[in-house]
Amino acid sequence: MGELDAYRRLRNFEVTPEPGDGSNEAGLAGLPRPLFVVQKHAARRLHYDLRLESEGALLSWAVPRGPTMVPGIKRLAVPTEDHPLAYADFEGVIPEPGYGAGTMLVWDRGVFRPLGPVRTGLEAGKLDFELEGEKLMGRFHLIQTRAGWLWVKGKDSFAQSSFDPETLPRSVRSGLTLEEVRAAGPAR
Ligand code: MN
Repeated sequence: MGELDAYRRLRNFEVTPEPGDGSNEAGLAGLPRPLFVVQKHAARRLHYDLRLESEGALLSWAVPRGPTMVPGIKRLAVPTEDHPLAYADFEGVIPEPGYGAGTMLVWDRGVFRPLGPVRTGLEAGKLDFELEGEKLMGRFHLIQTRAGWLWVKGKDSFAQSSFDPETLPRSVRSGLTLEEVRAAGPAR
């Protein structure tokens, strides 16, 4: 964890507007730390990307069905390459035919509060944490099973009885929808 070689290898920074791993983090100024971000990503297939700040990078999982605030619902979370911290402010269009081509927006962002050491938890197959975002609040768990990593909402006062991330389509960074970000073009 914390290695950005894979991130670098997968991208051509002369083409993609995504941040390079040496990008300045000015966009993160004023944000609470450590932070989490959930990006909505209309790539070949629509999904959400969960990213948690740890040891100077963003640990990342692709979540095909998106976040839930309903305890008991399990969301498959497929580990992906670590991303640079500056990625927490990325919103825009990744051009075809590059890796992750499509449109991305900052769906939610805020405080990431791990309930214990992150590395130890991931190695043991269970990470307990709290999020304090605009859409996601309270306790969550990432749990490794034979079916892969699962992202679940804990039972707490923030839990909801139903939740559909598609009913909250706007970026917490810009207020734009995916369609509006796409229309605005690659550079953000
Ligand atoms: Mn993605």
